[in-house]
Order: sequence, then structure tokens, then C-alpha cells
Amino acid sequence: MEQQLKLTFYGGTGTVTGANFLVEVAGETPVRFLIDCGLFQGNKSDDARNFESFPYDPATIDALIITHAHLDHIGRVPRLVKEGFQGPIYSTGATKEIAALSLDDTVSLLSRHHNDANNQDEAEPLYTLEDVAQALSQWQIVDYHQPFTLGPLDIVFRDAGHILGSALVECTRGNKKLVFTGDLGNSPSPLLKDTEAIKDATYLVMESVYGDRDHEDRSRRAEQFEDVIEDTLRRDGTLLIPVFSIERAQEIMFEIEQMMEASRIPLVPVFIDSPLAIRVTDVYKKYRHYLNNQVKEGGPARDGIFRFPQLHLTLSTEESKAILRANPRKIILAGSGMSTGGRILHHEKNYLSDSRNTLLLVGYQGVGTFGRILQDGAKIVRILGEEVTVSARIASIFGYSGHKDGSGLLNFVRGTGDTVKKVFVVMGEPKSALFLVQRIRDYLGIEAIAPAVGESVELEL
Ligand SMILES: [Zn+2]
Repeated sequence: MEQQLKLTFYGGTGTVTGANFLVEVAGETPVRFLIDCGLFQGNKSDDARNFESFPYDPATIDALIITHAHLDHIGRVPRLVKEGFQGPIYSTGATKEIAALSLDDTVSLLSRHHNDANNQDEAEPLYTLEDVAQALSQWQIVDYHQPFTLGPLDIVFRDAGHILGSALVECTRGNKKLVFTGDLGNSPSPLLKDTEAIKDATYLVMESVYGDRDHEDRSRRAEQFEDVIEDTLRRDGTLLIPVFSIERAQEIMFEIEQMMEASRIPLVPVFIDSPLAIRVTDVYKKYRHYLNNQVKEGGPARDGIFRFPQLHLTLSTEESKAILRANPRKIILAGSGMSTGGRILHHEKNYLSDSRNTLLLVGYQGVGTFGRILQDGAKIVRILGEEVTVSARIASIFGYSGHKDGSGLLNFVRGTGDTVKKVFVVMGEPKSALFLVQRIRDYLGIEAIAPAVGESVELEL
């Protein structure tokens, strides 16, 4: 009789965030382990879901595998530890280091406000710095292509090309293979290696963030970026770019570095005004061998990336405030990427009222975020309690994305089309997931489903 493996879809099911999948194998060497333990993100009801107890007893879980260091894949790990999980956590080294920075940074943001009996507003944290430290003490580093075992399964990480350290997880027994994609990168990326192709999966659990659409053409992306920089500096203005601290900040910084080294844009100061982005950049430097060959060998890599003379890393609040006094011809990168908090708000308050300046949006701006409100052309806004008339140019470049688009996802499945028996489409809004399910069935003739939350399947593996 075939061996059976039970797979249950908890988080990252019917939604992009909160990734959490349970694998259970019975037999002589039984094992129960999780893939990812991410934060639900988006709105208030998502926030509340993070405080719900886990649908399994964390103390009974043997191990946890982490695909990459985005919060929607790691954000509940300290909570899992707090609730009794004592097993090892496995990821690549870069993932562990970025996760450590990101979780530390997030502790204070993740609290639930409630009224106690005395009617005093109290904030209950999702977890504490101690829980984060405990999680890190259980965390073990495994490099790409370095096999390890969990029960009867051989586990291997392959490069997903999504952010530094991101991994696809292969679980193999005999000639059968279950693959979790985590998030799949929009290869080719300026910094990262391409997503490794999978040619022999039996089952795929795959993301579908952009399952129902394709990205805009990115061939003109560098040209558009150069135009926005030149246009702003010609007017003696300041260029503000809201960025996420992990990947997008480094990608944009690298592109500016390349343009300056090639004398394609004026040599003006570039401020990276985000403590998290600065610290994450150090991890990128440390794990340079994870970057693609073009970065390692060519161009700005000569004396190390992220090291050009115009670059200013403003870690402290004082340094951040001093940016305002610098000559207006400058470029400022700050978080958050959708202007929902962080130092970018201070810069937006200071610079948006001047028509010489430009706010450049280089990422998806979620509905309802301040970034989206600006992108949609709001003329009068309130920032940090102050009314600001928006006179600055608001520019957008849509070619940036850290995820494969619908065609890219389909091609990824096609790569393992000869062996794959079933595809489980997760980590997308229902519309995206179902669209991708349909395309996989129609174009590739492969069985595909979008599982429901809490649904279990028995796999022959
Ligand atoms: Zn991700």
C-alpha cells in the first residue's frame, strides 16, 4: 500500500497572508511539521485572527520550516513559541537574520487594545521581545541544496528568487515529491538569482498573489526611473520614494548606484532613511553569494554593493531630521512602502506641498492606504495631524514586483507538467487563486484546486 501524507491548509488559504500549512506523516518515523507561520495582514479582522489560538496544539508540533522572512510567513512564529512550540525552526541563514530584524521591529506594532475591568485602555502584545529571542534560539540554519530529514522525508531548500534567502521547500520520499513554493520571485531580478525550476514535483502547493493578472511591461522600467530622477533634479527638487525595507529598498538603491556609476544621472545625495532597511542591507552584503552573477561580478560590485559615495544611511532620528536641511537636490528612500507609517510620512509632510518635488511610487499601493490616496490624486491631505496641499508631482512606475505574474506562475507549473499530479493553489485572494486554478486546468490539463481554510487532503507520498 502507498504511504500517506496528510496536508492541512490553515493560513494563507483564501487569502494572501497568514501562511501556515501542517504536514503529518504516520508510520515508523511519524512527524508533524509546519510550513511557515505568518501574520494575517490587511484589516482589523485580520489583526484579530492573529490573536486566535492555533487550530492545533503547538506543543505537539515537531518542527517548523520557514520559506522566507516576510511577515506574512514568519509573523506568528514567536506566538507559536509562546504557545508551547519547542521544536527546531529551519530556514536559510539570510532568512533567519532578516526575520530576527523584522520580528524585533514589529513587536511594538502588534498589540491588541482592549478595555479592562477598570476601563483603562491596555495594549496586549501578540508576543514580546523575549518570545522573539526564544524563537531565534530554536532556529537552525540550512543552506540551499543541503538536505536534511524530517521523519521519513528528505527536505531540500531551492532558491525561490523572491527576496534574499527565499526558498522553495521540497519534501521527498522515494520517487514522490511535495513542493511548497512559498512566494515565487519575478525573475529576472536586478539582485537575486532566478527562481530554480522544479521538474519532478508530484504535488505543488503554490502561491497565487498575481494569479489573475500579468505585470506591466518592465522593459522601460529603468528608463522611466531615470526620467523621473532627471526631471526632479532639473527642477532643483527632492525625490521621495516610499519603499519596503526588505528587497525593494535594496533593489532601488542598487539601480540608483548603477545609474550614478554609469553617469546617467547627476551625483546627488541619496538617503536611506529607514533603520530596518539599513540593517537588512547589511544582511544583503553578508550574503552576497546569494545574489546573481551580474551583481557579484559586474558594475557596482567592484568595491562592494550599496557603498557609493553619495549614499547616506541615516540610522538615528537626528540624522533623519537633518535630511531636511540638506540641499533640496536629493533622493530620499524611506518606509513604509505604502506610506502607512514610518519615516516617509515626515518627508511627505515636509515635501509634498512644493511643486519642484516628486513622490515616486514603485510598488503596489493597497486600497485604502495613504499611498493609494496620493496615487489617486488627492490634493489636500492630513499627514501627522497637519493639513498639506499636494503640489508635488506624483509619479508611478508599475513594473516593480517581487512576485511572478499569472503567466509566470503558469510557466512554473508547466516546468513540472510531466510529473505533477495535483496543484494546490494558495496565498492569493479567492479571485486570483480560482483564476489560476482554471488556467492550470485549461491550459495544462493538470488537476488543480484552491483548498478551503482548515481543509485536509491525503496525498500518496
Ligand atoms: Zn513574500
